[in-house]
Amino acid sequence: MADAIAVGRIWHYGEEVYTPSGRVVPADGRETERQRFTAAVAAVRQELERLAATEAIFAAHLELTEDPMLAESVEAKIADGATAADALHAASEELSELFAQIDDEYLRSRADDVRDICRRIRRALEGGQPAMVVVPAGCVVAAEELAPSDTAAIDFSQACGLVTRRGSATSHVAILARNRGIPAVVGLGDTYDALAEGETVVLDGTAGELIVAPTPELESEYRRRAGERQRADAECRSRAAEPAVTLDGRRIVVAANVGDAEETRRAMACGADGIGLFRSELLYMQQQQTFPDEAMQAAAYAAAAKACGDRPLVIRTLDIGGDKALPYYEFPHEENPFLGWRAIRVSLELREVFRTQLRAILRASAAGNVRVMFPMIVSLEELHEARALLESCKKELAAEGVACDEKLPVGVMIETPAAVMMAEELAAEVDFFSVGTNDLTQYMLAVDRGNNHIAAMYDSLHPAVVRALRQIVEAAHRHGCEAGICGEFAAAPEHAELLVGLGFDELSVAAPVVASLKERIRHLDSGRARLFARDVCASATKTEVHALVERRRSE
Ligand code: PEP
Ligand code: MG
Repeated sequence: MADAIAVGRIWHYGEEVYTPSGRVVPADGRETERQRFTAAVAAVRQELERLAATEAIFAAHLELTEDPMLAESVEAKIADGATAADALHAASEELSELFAQIDDEYLRSRADDVRDICRRIRRALEGGQPAMVVVPAGCVVAAEELAPSDTAAIDFSQACGLVTRRGSATSHVAILARNRGIPAVVGLGDTYDALAEGETVVLDGTAGELIVAPTPELESEYRRRAGERQRADAECRSRAAEPAVTLDGRRIVVAANVGDAEETRRAMACGADGIGLFRSELLYMQQQQTFPDEAMQAAAYAAAAKACGDRPLVIRTLDIGGDKALPYYEFPHEENPFLGWRAIRVSLELREVFRTQLRAILRASAAGNVRVMFPMIVSLEELHEARALLESCKKELAAEGVACDEKLPVGVMIETPAAVMMAEELAAEVDFFSVGTNDLTQYMLAVDRGNNHIAAMYDSLHPAVVRALRQIVEAAHRHGCEAGICGEFAAAPEHAELLVGLGFDELSVAAPVVASLKERIRHLDSGRARLFARDVCASATKTEVHALVERRRSE
């Protein structure tokens, strides 16, 4: 994988240094400062109420904002002449220091929560919307956890790596890092505590390793390896635009997963044969006030379609819920959000929101080779409902004289055991499948994809998952339906032979992986891959499957 090694300095996101102004506010200005503080707290409470609907940590933060200690301390300092921001900073330091000294691990950890809340309040004091946070050049971003909405507010263009305390390889922050070619190690757990601001670290995103404060020898060894990888990458990028054809002449489409038009452009430059997954939800998550309207969406999709030229652009309809929230829409509180109101379930209930998106996709279909795909389908009824809405939007547009692709290809994501069991019937009705192994694995094995504690059980090489993949491809091909895969599983080079052997027509991966994956495919023989996949599917234990894959990798 491109640039998988990084050497850089730790830069904590959300812990930007505040330098107190030291200004003394005249007596007649102090009430205004107090009111500014109260208004900022109210704004933050509103924001937290929304976030608490989907993530429990924010409910705890909300509770902390009710603690009178913080407000009393800030107001006392304002009464003594401090500005609201200075008073908040001082109170935050005092209070988090107090929590940090408590002899109880849980209460001690609340020191971080206090700092986090105070940071939010300070941003609100500084004028509402936080500006884009730019990561300094050569730094490794360190964060407790990054929600997808946080990542939209960070400019990673100069960052060289990312580490988090919480999260797993298929959590959305890890996916985002991969899409942008940023080496990342997520879910560090307690190791995260050792990351002091400015500390030098070495990070190997492929191996999932982090070395804190390396010796000078180790640091230069890793810098040498990073340079080597970059050179190897540059070499395989020179052939990236060429098709991936196996030794015996089978063409495999290698597409990219992206979140917006800019990433689409980058993916094309990386040699992608198309976009196998356009995560449209990012557009929704970047809005602050309301759902994006039809014109805005149509422009964004058309820009991506144009960037693709005649290569296909698969737009996945809104896949929200689970760990993905919207700043302007209150989701119901759910005990199990990943088993709750997410993806197509939301779209079929928020009909107008869905229709707006379908109309926008249809409009964009006049600008290029667009396809539409529905996420998290569990039944034929859902597909029928979604399709009926698509057809009625087509009719509306035709009546309005708006051009669109009458034969817009329709696909579904296969991400649930139900969809696997119904693959035969679904395949008879759609043009393509795209297997979302990130979700399929979690639902098949009943292992939460974001839960560190059971991360070792999250295994897409579990025989049940591998056999499901075979079943999906076979059902698809019996009905002339294309079979692709866009889950993270496809991005690991050691899985390429298995996936080609299972018969997948398309692998869609993070853009920086496209070139090396194509190169890997060019060295495969599809007949040999088929035999290998047959052996893997015949294995009944995880150990056997892993051993087979490992043996093949080292051959
Ligand atoms: C998947 O589930 O594999 C997938 C590609 O969708 P997401 O990761 O966005 O849930
Ligand atoms: Mg999914």
